[in-house]
Amino acid sequence: MKPLRTPAALVAAELVPLERLAALEAVAARYAVSLTPDVLDIIHSDDPADPIARQFVPDPAELETTPEERADPIGDDAHSPVEGIVHRYPDRVLLKLVHVCPVYCRFCSRREPVGPHRRRSLSRAALARALDYIRARREIWEVILTGGDPLVLSPRRLREVVSALADIAHVKIVRVHTRVPVVAPARITAELIRAIKAPGKATYVVLHANHPRELSSRARAACARIIDAGIPMLSQSVLLRGVNDDPDTLAALMRALVENRIKPYYLHHGDLAPGTSHLRTTIAQGQGLVRSLHGRLSGLCQPAYVLDIPGGHGKSPIGPTYLGRAASADDEDRYEIEDFNGGRHLYPPAPARR
Ligand code: SF4
Repeated sequence: MKPLRTPAALVAAELVPLERLAALEAVAARYAVSLTPDVLDIIHSDDPADPIARQFVPDPAELETTPEERADPIGDDAHSPVEGIVHRYPDRVLLKLVHVCPVYCRFCSRREPVGPHRRRSLSRAALARALDYIRARREIWEVILTGGDPLVLSPRRLREVVSALADIAHVKIVRVHTRVPVVAPARITAELIRAIKAPGKATYVVLHANHPRELSSRARAACARIIDAGIPMLSQSVLLRGVNDDPDTLAALMRALVENRIKPYYLHHGDLAPGTSHLRTTIAQGQGLVRSLHGRLSGLCQPAYVLDIPGGHGKSPIGPTYLGRAASADDEDRYEIEDFNGGRHLYPPAPARR
């Protein structure tokens, strides 16, 4: 079975009713659509609020752009010295190899530049310039392969890029950001895994997953193949209204990741990508949800809740915070710290009696 790439195909698959076809054609004319067979398998099509469908099936609400939303919500363009490179932080760069993905997430922060209407991948000349940029800067310790989704590339092409990076002495880490293990797990072959393992360097794979159901048996097996080959895995998730914005779903997601040897790394607050306000929570809601994980779940299950500051200023952790200055003037040099049950304590505490 092939991916579904048009609203008509979604209607034929009974994922959306015929009367929504015209509205969804308008959305698809603006933002790419694709659902893989593995995604279709985990959608409960009898549930109109299905959290998997909500991530991939277009919605007419996407045609409403709010004033604060922007085409480049995390400010990649401001930090792109050469095509394909985003150099925002001193010791690492993004290397955007492709502009396509097996699926198109409705909340994607790069929804304007990604899609089949764009050039599929970086040209050979542009890739050579991007590698030259990395070679010339000894401060670049880590290269993050992203896109689009880099694991749509063939193992041969991936091996070329990863080998070229491994040959650069100051590059010690190659990190791959991908959704492929959950949306197209059959692509995770032994050949592809060998291709992304940087000789003599550390390769990490960061999986994008937002709901526990995404960790299907095939997805779990794909992740196990990566980890068993000696590549550690981390995860990143996006906090999404109607998908994972309740404590039990978020807890189940984090636990499922850890049970599969994937360390939760980031929980992203939804970016201000155009037409995504119906999928964003407030920061206060996000902090409440993260607080619900603290104390209740193992420390292994705790991602950092982060916001990519619009304008390209990078990510910052956004709480919740537990530490403040003590309220009483008598304690002005002390802190007040809250425990996971809501109890408050002064730090340092009163001197111990001897
Ligand atoms: S897989 Fe990643 S890059 Fe592709 S649409 Fe989804 S969030 Fe965007």
